[in-house]
Amino acid sequence: MEGLIIEYQDPLFGLILFVGFIFIIALLTYLWSLYATKEQSNHIESFTQRFYINTENQGLDPLLFNPQTPKESLLLLAQTYFTSGAYEEVIKITLELLKGQKESLERRDLLMLLARAYFKAGLYKRSEIALVELLRYHTREPAALKYLLLIYERLQRYDDAIDILDSLEEMQEEVALERIYFKFLKTAHAPKLTLEEKSTKLLALRQHPTLLRPIFGYLLRHNPAITWEHLDGEVALQLIDVLYRLPKEQLRQVAPKDAKLHALLCALGAIDEEAQPTGNFTIDTVNALTPSYKARINIAFIYSCDNCSSVTPLENHRCPSCMQALSMRLRTTLAPKDKHEAYYAF
Ligand SMILES: [Zn+2]
Repeated sequence: MEGLIIEYQDPLFGLILFVGFIFIIALLTYLWSLYATKEQSNHIESFTQRFYINTENQGLDPLLFNPQTPKESLLLLAQTYFTSGAYEEVIKITLELLKGQKESLERRDLLMLLARAYFKAGLYKRSEIALVELLRYHTREPAALKYLLLIYERLQRYDDAIDILDSLEEMQEEVALERIYFKFLKTAHAPKLTLEEKSTKLLALRQHPTLLRPIFGYLLRHNPAITWEHLDGEVALQLIDVLYRLPKEQLRQVAPKDAKLHALLCALGAIDEEAQPTGNFTIDTVNALTPSYKARINIAFIYSCDNCSSVTPLENHRCPSCMQALSMRLRTTLAPKDKHEAYYAF
């Protein structure tokens, strides 16, 4: 016992012990990384087998299954297919490229492309699985989380979407508009609320100016009576397109409770009277026209995104280009009914 203590006090013995510990830790770390890599490869292998598809495009096979084909060329081909909307081919190529893919970043990019292709093809559940697989190894990947948000919106899983927003917020991402939007969606689709309860809760949310159009659009479709009760000129001027598409008979039943609403109803042809100026260029221009000119023009609408400036003729609460929620702004234009006449945009 005494000899052992003397040996333990020997500096050389301490050094050997220290080096031994370092060696054991390094060995264990190496074995663990080998195990983790093997585990990831097995997981990706079973993942790709699970979603294997056989496309009608057999022309791809010689290229896809030829070991001489560079992976970069296949990836470029997949991206080209994605741009042209051939999502089945994108899925086939990315699944093949994922097999045996050991590079973590390349696997992340492939899983992202696969998830986007599934999403575009309307296969939301599969897109979710691909993103969850990506997030297993890259937990702080905002692009993947944002796509997952879109999937949960489509699947009406609003609580899951709000959890994603919490994660994005922790990563310093801007989510204020998305949070407001999901508050609206969760209320509008709450299964346990009656229509009256939903209407009351939705009207309470109108303090957020960006929610005015979704709220009144929803109420107009589901509870028109309460819509007319709460519709004033200021709100109505933001809903010109929605009101313009309603039948004239329905508009004639709306009480013009203020000068702006009266002017708007005049411009939409529901009331045939003199109107006061509203400050809205399109409405005031229409009301200033003589009846014969008024009969020759249409009010047309486009929607431009405040985030990416893209323009679309269809209304959407989410920009179809950058996918930002509540970023679409209504723009009105005046167009001649006769397409051969000049076109004036305002
Ligand atoms: Zn946009």
